[in-house]
Amino acid sequence: MHSSLYSTKHECLLCGDVITNPICYTCLESEVEEWLTGRMPAIIPKVKKTGKIFASYTHQGTRCILCGNNMNVCTHCYCYEVNKLFENYPRLAEEFVEFFNFELRGSSNFVTQG
Ligand SMILES: [Zn+2]
Ligand SMILES: [Zn+2]
Repeated sequence: MHSSLYSTKHECLLCGDVITNPICYTCLESEVEEWLTGRMPAIIPKVKKTGKIFASYTHQGTRCILCGNNMNVCTHCYCYEVNKLFENYPRLAEEFVEFFNFELRGSSNFVTQG
């Protein structure tokens, strides 16, 4: 481990957590889009609108492991925002968390028992 360039810790600009799994919002967005296409395509434009919020957070930071774009907001924050779109669709919200499983379960709102 001597790639000092990449060993610097990058923190999420929104929550302050260290970004351990750098995947930028555009990459996540296409995943979400694909996932929604078979379920509720009507929500896709909203997802894209949410993505625009994150477009301003693409300066410096770390690099997306998938596309190499700069990014400095963690996947958790992105998923949290997208998850809000499903508040009227509990089943979708549940599936979303299950499908993307980006530590959302760690928050108290997603306690799983039994
Ligand atoms: Zn974050
Ligand atoms: Zn990316």
